[in-house]
Amino acid sequence: MTTIHAASHEQLFLPLDPEAALGAVFARVFRRLRLRPPEPAFSVEFRPFSSLRSMIRVRDYHAEVRVADLLAEAPPIVLEALAEILLAQVYRRRASQEARACYLAYISSPAVRHRADAVRRQRGRKRLLPPRGRCYDLEEIFRKLNARYFGGEIAPLRLGWSPHRSRSTLGHYDSAHGTITVSRWFDSPTMPRYLVEYLVFHEMLHIRFPVERIGHRRVVHSRAFREAEKSFPHYEKARQKLMRMARLC
Ligand SMILES: [Zn+2]
Repeated sequence: MTTIHAASHEQLFLPLDPEAALGAVFARVFRRLRLRPPEPAFSVEFRPFSSLRSMIRVRDYHAEVRVADLLAEAPPIVLEALAEILLAQVYRRRASQEARACYLAYISSPAVRHRADAVRRQRGRKRLLPPRGRCYDLEEIFRKLNARYFGGEIAPLRLGWSPHRSRSTLGHYDSAHGTITVSRWFDSPTMPRYLVEYLVFHEMLHIRFPVERIGHRRVVHSRAFREAEKSFPHYEKARQKLMRMARLC
């Protein structure tokens, strides 16, 4: 185990804002490494990246640093090591063995890797199976529903079956990724077509009726949404069947 002997008592008095605190770390490391002046003003942002990546860009008197927010809780010594690695990179120096070992030990620790994996699953590119399944073609269903109930006004988006046969998340519209996912559980000859249609229809309504905010409350299924949902001809039948199935599992 290696350590970096750069921590000073400054760390005991870190300002509350973690981004400003990390900016101060960068400035301190800049001086410690005696890098080529002028010393830039560091502005650091934690970003919700889907991996542990970080980057730095120096222009004139300004250095923009972006660090994965996954690293926001890293111990000061790790952030100091990261600062050294990024600064060495941009000033064409070699980061010390200590800094590299310290950073690497942290990001490859089981706890951090576990968290990184969870974040990647959550934020990373959606993994969907193609819309044409074994029994049903989600794109064809979408096109027909769009023409029939939405005047063709729902812009085409990515549709796909979920990789797993989920029995808890039956369908999902993700506005961040612009996707509609239907659980692969429904791509089966034992599932009636109207049920798949209903799931796609429901998710399309989420595009037509986006989440409303009333004060701090998020209304996902507004009254208008629920009214519109009833225009689906097999609405009652589909709801009842889904409720029975949900009780089964
Ligand atoms: Zn919904």
